Amino acid sequence: MGRGERIISAEWNIHLYRHVYLRLYSSLMNARLKPDPAAGASRLRRLLKPVVTPVVFDFWASRFNRSWSWDRPLARIVAREQASRDAVTLVLKPNRHWTGFQPGQHLNLSVELNGTRVTRSYSLTAPPRADGCISVTVKGIEGGKLSRYLCQQAQVGDVLELGPAFGEMILPQRLQGRWLFLAAGSGITPLMAMVRTLAARGMPVPLDLVYWARSRDELCFASELRELAAAHPNFRVHFALTRELSLAADEAAGRIDAAMLRSLVSDADARHVYACGPGGFVDTARSLLAANVPTFHAEAFSAPPRVVEDNGSVQVTLAASGRTLSVARGQSLLTALEAEGLRPDSGCRMGICNTCACGKASGTTRNLNTGDLEDEPVSALKLCISSAVGDLVLDL
Ligand SMILES: Cc1cc2nc3c(=O)[nH]c(=O)nc-3n(C[C@H](O)[C@H](O)[C@H](O)COP(=O)(O)OP(=O)(O)OC[C@H]3O[C@@H](n4cnc5c(N)ncnc54)[C@H](O)[C@@H]3O)c2cc1C
Repeated sequence: MGRGERIISAEWNIHLYRHVYLRLYSSLMNARLKPDPAAGASRLRRLLKPVVTPVVFDFWASRFNRSWSWDRPLARIVAREQASRDAVTLVLKPNRHWTGFQPGQHLNLSVELNGTRVTRSYSLTAPPRADGCISVTVKGIEGGKLSRYLCQQAQVGDVLELGPAFGEMILPQRLQGRWLFLAAGSGITPLMAMVRTLAARGMPVPLDLVYWARSRDELCFASELRELAAAHPNFRVHFALTRELSLAADEAAGRIDAAMLRSLVSDADARHVYACGPGGFVDTARSLLAANVPTFHAEAFSAPPRVVEDNGSVQVTLAASGRTLSVARGQSLLTALEAEGLRPDSGCRMGICNTCACGKASGTTRNLNTGDLEDEPVSALKLCISSAVGDLVLDL
C-alpha cells in the first residue's frame, strides 16, 4: 500500500470511528432521555448490533455496571440476611433479561469459583415484587461448593448469573379443596413462595404446612409462618423436629410417617398435597399419600440413591466436537462426561431444569429415575438422569 493510500485509509478509519462514536453517543443520550428504559435499551441494541458482538458488549458494559449484559440474565445482590443458623436469604435485583417466574418455581444460579463456572438450582421464596427483586434462601451444605460460597462469601453488590425459571409445582388457576404442604429442610423454599402468595390473597383455601428440620435453629421463616397462622384461621403450621424434643404447641418430634401425619392433619387423605425436600423424604411422602389423595405433586432437591447394575464401559461419540470417549455404564452421562474433563452445561442435576439436555443421534440409554430404556434418537436427552447402556452418539 502506497503512502497516499495509507493516508486515505487512515482518514477513512477516523471517519468510521467518528460515525460509530456519534451514533453510540446519540443513542446513549436517547436511551437516557427515553422514559421507558427497556425501549431505550432495545434501540441501543439495534444500533450496536452491526458493530459489536455480545461478548465484546458484555466485556465493556461490565466495566460500567456489572449487571449490564447484551442478553444474559444477571442479578445484583441488594440485600442479605441470616434466615436460620445455616441459611441466608439473598435479595437479587435482576437486569431486564430475566423473564419472570411463578411462585413455586426455581432458577439456576451460576458463579465462577476458582476459574470454574458452578451452577446450582434454588427456589424463589417470595411472590413477584413490584420493584422486580427476587429472593432465594440458601442453606450452607458442609463441603458444598456454591451453597457455602453464597452463605459465607457472597456480598451485597456481587453479581450472579441467572437461568430461566423452571418447575411444574405451581398454584393452579382455580384453587379449590383443602391443601397440605409438606416440606423438609430446604424444601420449604418453593412452598414458602406459595404460602406468601396465598396469604396475600387472604388465604382462600384451608392450608396446613408441616415443615421438618433437624433442629429449631435450622427452621427458616418460623416467626413469619407463626404470624401468618395467627392472622389467617384457614392456615395452620406444624414444625416437626427430627433431632430435638418438641416444646411449643405447634411443634412435633419425629420423621414423617403415617401416624405422625394422621395426628397432625387428620384429613390428610382428603387434601391436595405438595411435597418438597430431599429425595428420600419425597419418596416417603409419595408412598404414604399419593395413592389416596385427590392430587399429589412433589419435587426432590436431591436424588435418592440410585442402584444401577450396568457394568463396564461404552464408547460415546461427541458429534459436534469430534471426540470419542470411553465412559462407565452405571453412572449418569453428566457425571461420566465430567469425569473425562468435559463441562457440559448443567443445572439441577435432577432432571427438572433441562439445562443439560442435548440431542442423541443413536444408541441406548437408561432413565436412571425410572429404569426405562430408550433406544430411539431424541432431541433432548437429559444427561443428568440418563446413563449409557450401549455405544452412543451425542450432539455435543
Ligand atoms: C429444583 C431444586 C431447587 C433447589 N432449591 C434450593 C433452595 O431453595 N435452597 C437450598 O439451599 N438448596 C436448594 N436446592 C439444592 C441446591 O441446588 C444445591 O444442591 C445445594 O445448595 C448444594 O450445592 P453445593 O454446590 O453447595 O454442593 P455440592 O458441591 O454440589 O455438593 C457437596 C456435597 O453435598 C451433598 N449435597 C448436595 N445437595 C445437598 C442437599 N440439598 N442436602 C444435603 N446434601 C447435599 C452432595 O451430595 C455432595 O456430597 C435445590 C435443588 C433443586 C434440584
